[in-house]
Amino acid sequence: MAVLITGIGELTTNDPELGKLRDAAVVIEGEEIAWAGAAADAPDADERIDVEGRAVLPGWVDSHTHLVFAGDRTAEFEARMAGKAYSAGGIAVTVEATRSASDEQLAANLRRHVDEAAKQGTTCLETKTGYGLNVEDEVRSARIAAGVADEVTFLGAHLVPPGADAESYVDLVCGDMLDAVAPLVRWADVFCETGAFDEAQSGRVLKAARERGLGLRVHGNQLGEGPGVRLAVELGAASVDHCTYLSEADVEALAASDTVATLLPACDLSTRQPLAPARRLLDAGATVALASNANPGSSYTTSMAFCVTTAVLQMRMTIDEAVWSATAGGARALRRDDVGVIRVGARADLQVLEAPSVTHLAYRPGVPLTVGVWRRGELLTSGFGSKR
Ligand SMILES: [Zn+2]
Repeated sequence: MAVLITGIGELTTNDPELGKLRDAAVVIEGEEIAWAGAAADAPDADERIDVEGRAVLPGWVDSHTHLVFAGDRTAEFEARMAGKAYSAGGIAVTVEATRSASDEQLAANLRRHVDEAAKQGTTCLETKTGYGLNVEDEVRSARIAAGVADEVTFLGAHLVPPGADAESYVDLVCGDMLDAVAPLVRWADVFCETGAFDEAQSGRVLKAARERGLGLRVHGNQLGEGPGVRLAVELGAASVDHCTYLSEADVEALAASDTVATLLPACDLSTRQPLAPARRLLDAGATVALASNANPGSSYTTSMAFCVTTAVLQMRMTIDEAVWSATAGGARALRRDDVGVIRVGARADLQVLEAPSVTHLAYRPGVPLTVGVWRRGELLTSGFGSKR
């Protein structure tokens, strides 16, 4: 069945040929976009939905979350807001709660957060393991994630479990753990940071993952300058995430590579770090993605709109740069070309704003503007327009 969405006041496509259109229409057929262009030229369809001048754009592509978890870190957040510094060690609290939870509890918690994100326009979501930190719990986390998320990343190298020896743990990650998890995931990631894994350990994990055919991602340069970005670029990682502290050499390396710099502004704010240098990256020619980093410790939000608003108001990205980075940029960070874009053949993932243009995402900060969401051609929420 073909559905015509018409009356689109502003259509952001991220397609170089279509660009941004006024008075536009889109036709969805099954799970895909079958047509996009000027409303006056739209073909007939079985059903017609008029969004009455509202803006339509691709659904958000959230390329970085940690949502296979149990428990709560409110106390740590309160302490941080009272002046205590963030450190990687807080992850251990979530590891303990996650190991104690049943499969059903973990799956229900993941589903609840993915649904929460979808209502706010996130139609493609990556999530990670990393709160299991032993073979059994990492495998279980990957299996649960694979049933719910679009993309799954193995993050056994999130933290050395309390009491474990770092080198022996890295041996385990590179050996039995990767062997067991690799069939369930597309990506592997490592937290390359003081207090987590150093350059040599991170390199070992990434190379072992690459040998098993996994794509690479890196958590790097979150709490200070370090080797994360360099390592990610050298090993051809799809994305290096955080990028809060970058040297000139890091910026140049990113600009000259295919590795996406994924910025996580909600995390920078929640950990009271400076915001990542988006402007330096963009001006140098690097590809920038925005993601939520949704997790119970350092960034407990699923709101991509909040990330876009912050990127514009505080990181000096333009509206169009921020919207692109939270849609097509996320797709690039996941090496996908079927999401984050509105063109014939792309996945029918769209959102409708209660606004005439995407500018309102920053112009009206904090207002929940996403009122309609299609994911894979299915209308998830509709608080807009008329149907006939
Ligand atoms: Zn993360």
